[in-house]
Amino acid sequence: MYCPQCGVPNDNNAFRCVKCSEVIQVVPVRTALPQIEDTAGMRMLLPVGRSLWAIAAGYAGLFAVLFVTAPLALLLGVAAVVDIRRHPEKHGLGRAVFAIVMGVLFSAPLVFFIIAGVLGK
Ligand SMILES: [Zn+2]
Repeated sequence: MYCPQCGVPNDNNAFRCVKCSEVIQVVPVRTALPQIEDTAGMRMLLPVGRSLWAIAAGYAGLFAVLFVTAPLALLLGVAAVVDIRRHPEKHGLGRAVFAIVMGVLFSAPLVFFIIAGVLGK
């Protein structure tokens, strides 16, 4: 096969061009058969295939209403998003976003109270 970028002949199995490193072959990421953990029903019932960070972030997000745990929810939420981006097969982005939103929402008054407390002394 020839590189669409620079026209240099490459091996038919080559993933990247030998000359310009252009990706010339898209490797299929997923198998055709759906796995059990991919079905929506199983996903609802079990945390299978879900990022552990997202699970932790989900709970931290719930407890963010206590203000003290809000920064923790924010951190776990960000960690979950990073984890899911690294492992696209994992689920739980909704929980991660939820944790970040809750974390930001409840961290703001916490920071305000801390600053007010420091300035008030
Ligand atoms: Zn090339």
